[in-house]
Amino acid sequence: MAKATRMTRQRRLILEILRSTDIHPTADWIYHQARKHIPDISLGTVYRNLNQLKQAGEIMELNYGSTFSRYDGNPCNHYHFVCDACGRVFDVEMPVLSGIEEEAARLSGMKVTRHRLEFYGYCRECQKSREEPKTQG
Ligand SMILES: [Zn+2]
Ligand SMILES: [Zn+2]
Repeated sequence: MAKATRMTRQRRLILEILRSTDIHPTADWIYHQARKHIPDISLGTVYRNLNQLKQAGEIMELNYGSTFSRYDGNPCNHYHFVCDACGRVFDVEMPVLSGIEEEAARLSGMKVTRHRLEFYGYCRECQKSREEPKTQG
């Protein structure tokens, strides 16, 4: 897409993995997928490439204050739902709110360049298992 970007094979693979899923995976998950294609890739290489992709604006890093970040192959602003029970991150299919950055800038005097919005609660699966506790097995 970006012209004249000389991507390494590793970086292209990591981007492909990330763009092919909507689970907002951790670096560790990406690493395990990448090893299926490049068996000698290291976790450090995965992190390095994720950082480069992030800096290039190709992906987003989602940090929810937990010990590890999750990554998103969609670099355009969109909203997320985080399940308090299972920790999974879902895309929320709603239009990005317009005008709130201008409003925040007007009220605060800051130069606002972006905003993030997250919803929290229980995902559909966890709602179900909370309603009727499943017997495992
Ligand atoms: Zn859940
Ligand atoms: Zn997302």
